[in-house]
Amino acid sequence: MAALVACHCRQCNQMSSHLLAATSVAETGLTWTREETLTWYQSSDFAERGFCRACGCNISWRLSDADARDTVSLMAGSFDDQSGLRLEQHIFVDHKPGYYEITDGLPQFPDSD
Ligand SMILES: [Zn+2]
Repeated sequence: MAALVACHCRQCNQMSSHLLAATSVAETGLTWTREETLTWYQSSDFAERGFCRACGCNISWRLSDADARDTVSLMAGSFDDQSGLRLEQHIFVDHKPGYYEITDGLPQFPDSD
């Protein structure tokens, strides 16, 4: 079972049109199977986001500095089989838009966890 974090930050809101759910995996051992369409772009001073340039889907988020990162976030929607995913917490809830409430009772954090 992989834990998902729902991110309510403005950037995730803009990219997903609502909120974004992702899990985090160790970068070592991760193999990109469609690297020919995986495109990274610098999304902030410290991070980059990966998307598919063929279909536009959000795929990943990682720290830009390869020496500083151990993990890569993988977007829930990019998994072919989502049965092993489980939402466990909400982050950046102080940044969420006001048009919805979080009512699932899961832990909430004002910024990152
Ligand atoms: Zn976010």
